Amino acid sequence: MSRSSSTKEILDAIQKVVGPAKVDNPIFLHEPEFKDTAAWEYVKECIDSGWVSTAGKYVNQFEEELCKYTGADYAIAVTNGTVALRLALSIINVKPDEEVIIPPLTFVATANAVCHLNAIPHFVDIESNTFGLCPEALQGRLEKLAYKENGQVFNRDTGRRIAAILPVHLFGNPSKIIELKRIAFEWELPLVEDAAEALGSWSKESNKYIHCGLFGAVGILSFNGNKIITTGGGGALITNDKNLALKARHISTTAKIPHPWMYQHDQIGWNDRMPNINAALGVSQMQDFARRLERKNHLADSYYNQFSILKGIELLRARDDCISNKWLMTARFTANNQDHAKSQCLDLVQESNAIGIRLRPAWKLLTKLPMFLDNPKGPLPNAESEFSRLVNLPSSPQICK
Ligand SMILES: *Cc1c(COP(=O)(O)O)cnc(C)c1O
Repeated sequence: MSRSSSTKEILDAIQKVVGPAKVDNPIFLHEPEFKDTAAWEYVKECIDSGWVSTAGKYVNQFEEELCKYTGADYAIAVTNGTVALRLALSIINVKPDEEVIIPPLTFVATANAVCHLNAIPHFVDIESNTFGLCPEALQGRLEKLAYKENGQVFNRDTGRRIAAILPVHLFGNPSKIIELKRIAFEWELPLVEDAAEALGSWSKESNKYIHCGLFGAVGILSFNGNKIITTGGGGALITNDKNLALKARHISTTAKIPHPWMYQHDQIGWNDRMPNINAALGVSQMQDFARRLERKNHLADSYYNQFSILKGIELLRARDDCISNKWLMTARFTANNQDHAKSQCLDLVQESNAIGIRLRPAWKLLTKLPMFLDNPKGPLPNAESEFSRLVNLPSSPQICK
């Protein structure tokens, strides 16, 4: 068996990509960038005109840009990705005390949004190539405990309705969405995609690339400060379903019936729309998006190049029929012995942070967080094995000079 590369060798390889580490000027995982964009001009225009809040031309323009880029028929810009998820689940009628199937390896917001509707995250394992929800595990779990009645799916163990399947495209890498979509279709379960990290990521279906988030009923994006583009805080729903789009737009704007002066509302709504001042940033970021993706691809190539000579650690790659936006480059320690991989991973995280490279381990599994300990879950062998082996590498486009 060949020797694994040492922590020092890995750190050297990383610094060949990101430049020399400096303790007093650390390199972060993913930083916002507005250089060479019209951001300042557009934001200034919002301020000068007074159109800073939840109406204004940039909101519409940002939604149009998102539709044009992703191919979605409809986009609804909202205040953040968590809100977008909660809204997406609510328009497909997820109700309190119903279950939504999610993977355990994701940002906590995926589960939080389910809980914000008083629904219950039900955890199903990931698979080890994309780190997304595992189609076989999903099928196995449904066969084991689900049954259909009057077109609805119920969990035999808990008696609760299973209301949706919510896969996540992790780190910008498309999950096995075609297979997941097939299972959702067989069970007549709505599919909602958490594509918060996946603007610019595509998967092939019948020889055509479809943007992540557009395989099921509705998908969501996030524009938080660390995402591939940012509006400060922000998110969006994307969908090809007109009724869902109208519903989302309506309840996200206090369920107000359009009228020149009258305040008439026909249900309890939310105040979820993205302010114009944030959308202004979004428009400027979308105008720069092609250049940004190009630089991220260069950065990825240079990581692939440096890591090709390392042993015992490998970089995640999108499958052949997918395009990843390469939001966060992700490395995995490959040692068979899990404890060994875990300690290599911890060493690298500690050493890199000590010298000013802010590497981050993958999230702790959600099933280990105090609020989700008792949630329904299937066997999670892949998630248990993978999460302690993963590190994310600095991936800001501006690293690529
Ligand atoms: C960022 C993120 C969210 C939430 O987005 P916010 O805009 O931060 O609320 C949801 N899911 C995943 C996977 C994310 O990475």
